[in-house]
Amino acid sequence: MPESPYLVLDPERVRENYRALDSVLSRAGRRARIRFAVKACPVPQIVSVLAAEGAEFDVASVGEIGLCLAAGVPAARLCYGNPIKKAADIARAHELGVRRFAFDTEDDLARIAQHAPGAQVECRFLADAPESRTPFGMKFGCAPGEALRLLARAADLGLAVGGPCFHVGSQQLDPQAWRIGIEQAGAIVAALADKGIGVAVVNIGGGLPVSYADPVPPLETIAQTSLAAAAQFLPAATDLVVEPGRALVATAGVIHAEVVGVRTAPDGRRWVYLDIGRYNGMAETENEYIAYRFTTDRDGDPVDEAVVAGPTCDGDDVLYQRTRVLLPTTLRAGDQVRVLGTGAYTASYSSVSFNGFPPLTVHVLGAERE
Ligand SMILES: *Cc1c(COP(=O)(O)O)cnc(C)c1O
Repeated sequence: MPESPYLVLDPERVRENYRALDSVLSRAGRRARIRFAVKACPVPQIVSVLAAEGAEFDVASVGEIGLCLAAGVPAARLCYGNPIKKAADIARAHELGVRRFAFDTEDDLARIAQHAPGAQVECRFLADAPESRTPFGMKFGCAPGEALRLLARAADLGLAVGGPCFHVGSQQLDPQAWRIGIEQAGAIVAALADKGIGVAVVNIGGGLPVSYADPVPPLETIAQTSLAAAAQFLPAATDLVVEPGRALVATAGVIHAEVVGVRTAPDGRRWVYLDIGRYNGMAETENEYIAYRFTTDRDGDPVDEAVVAGPTCDGDDVLYQRTRVLLPTTLRAGDQVRVLGTGAYTASYSSVSFNGFPPLTVHVLGAERE
């Protein structure tokens, strides 16, 4: 095993997660394609496993396109879903065979028409969904009326109209969020139909939540809510695309870390310092958005509250000080700590070498099993 800290990923678990989602999505008779958001876990072996299952891939940069192609994914299964891209990125993606793009401005649409002529486009609108745990705010998505106008414009520019897309925010805990988005997408689809423009697909984005320390609505509920909304608001021939990142990979990962030290601060609170922190894998503890669960070899001993902090000299490198984290009172330097459910947004968020701490290493299970 590598030196602590490191992330262990289980591709079999990713496969199971994919199949479970595919099975709950295929109950309504509507075609629902799963498109993995690569940024959640840009690890070649994970991408290969999902490719073998038939997944599509949401990529956000030329780098992610290269990673997928190198892992054996046909370019036809990629969608360049990042609305923020340079003309040169679009041209390069097109050269590499990418034929699907998302956009949310007229500018970007014009760049796609110029540098990826004939491509299929999805227009991201900002859905009226409730806020998720890690919200996107106003960064992406145009108003629904603008999406209607831009998709009609796409047809004029000789592009293939994919359809509207939205993302309800990552770790979305309210199943109604998807219903709201699908109803809004349905209105766009109907208005395009009035203009004689057919829509191939409605992309309902990612955001599917994962149970970390707290329970979340089951995927079945979200799938049922979404499929029922699709039945109500979308034509039967419109495909759905679901774009999970977190939900496919989070439970497939465990970070193995170590206690560097324990101390009582001047205010009397106990601080536990780990060799994993905000900068080498646990970026999603920012604002304590994601509450990971810890296990130790001393589980079963009496527990007490602890502030949990990372190893760097940065004052922001504190994982939890408002969230109530209970850890064994016997915990001491050198003890191993496992952080569960860390397969998503960890290694890919790790800094190159902040404060001299190396990026999180990844160990993929599998080779030693065969
Ligand atoms: C990040 C991202 C996703 C995946 O989001 P999750 O919350 O991890 O499911 C899907 N689509 C797009 C466009 C994204 O940027």
